[in-house]
Amino acid sequence: MTDRFGRNISYLRISVTELCNLRCRYCMPEEGVCKKRHEEMLREDEMIQAVEVAASLGITKLRITGGEPLVKKNIVSICRRAAAVEGIQEVCLTTNGILLPELAAPLKEAGVKRLNISLDTLDAEKYAYITRMGSLSQAAEGIRAAMDAGFEKVKLNTVLIGGFNEDEIVPLAELTLRYPIDLRFIEMMPMVEGGFGPEAFIPNTRVLEVLPELEEQPADGGVAKLYRLPGALGRVGLISPVNAHFCAACNRIRLTADGKLKPCLHSAAEYSIKGLNREEMRSVMEQAIYNKPAWHGELNAQNPSHAGRNMNQIGG
Ligand code: SAM
Ligand code: SF4
Repeated sequence: MTDRFGRNISYLRISVTELCNLRCRYCMPEEGVCKKRHEEMLREDEMIQAVEVAASLGITKLRITGGEPLVKKNIVSICRRAAAVEGIQEVCLTTNGILLPELAAPLKEAGVKRLNISLDTLDAEKYAYITRMGSLSQAAEGIRAAMDAGFEKVKLNTVLIGGFNEDEIVPLAELTLRYPIDLRFIEMMPMVEGGFGPEAFIPNTRVLEVLPELEEQPADGGVAKLYRLPGALGRVGLISPVNAHFCAACNRIRLTADGKLKPCLHSAAEYSIKGLNREEMRSVMEQAIYNKPAWHGELNAQNPSHAGRNMNQIGG
């Protein structure tokens, strides 16, 4: 289905939980989330109904996200049922990787095609700092498990943070020399109160300054601008939602774990589908898609996101 600006909306991101086994400083507060009542959250059947309705409106690609989707007990079942919905061509999942050693193979078997794994640093102490509780060795085991499980594609996501991982741009990008993975640098979006200040924002152009040998690659339909280090097995991607927003080409809508359709990540507009039957859900989804905002507006320290939620409550 197209929105009122003629954009074809074909990609739905579903956050299956707000809960997480980490507490990344740019994403959520230290105290975690105030656990909502079970009845407020979408049940598995409602999520699948939403996928069916979305597919009937032209959604072909799904990304399962969170919070941390792998802490959800029924995650494999959700993925299997979503992948089986007629019209859905691709189910992808974004994870911090910690639980992949036990879940990579079942997810692959359930029909998940591609995995994105978050990795902001190669230093164990810095990993523990940025995630407030994570272990780099566990994340690394998860990445290894993902590569061994035979997914079509494994990508690593790195949020660029001034004064934190700016000095690791080169070693992180150089992972693509040894592994057939894409490593994408993401500009940090001003989301969580008490998170990083404006001084920590680094534009993605910094990556090009530090790695002038990066060679531009053909676009693959995603939001990342793609590059390759000479001779590398994988690519380096730059995702720049702050400095070079991609709203004009945005093909996404989002569904939160508590059943709110968000036509734009940074807008407060939400359309509830919790408790609706198929026909009602279809009508609300049509409205949400049609009314997708033209763009997310200025996004910087003076103009923070209007999302009204932390990133773990949206899904990135
Ligand atoms: N827990 C999973 C993970 O970390 O990959 C999935 C959910 S997480 C919210 C999805 C993505 O959003 C991650 O790649 C994370 O790094 C990114 N993210 C979270 N907060 C962000 C922010 N303020 N700016 C840019 N990216 C952010
Ligand atoms: Fe959890 Fe992902 Fe947010 Fe980190 S970025 S706190 S892993 S939801």
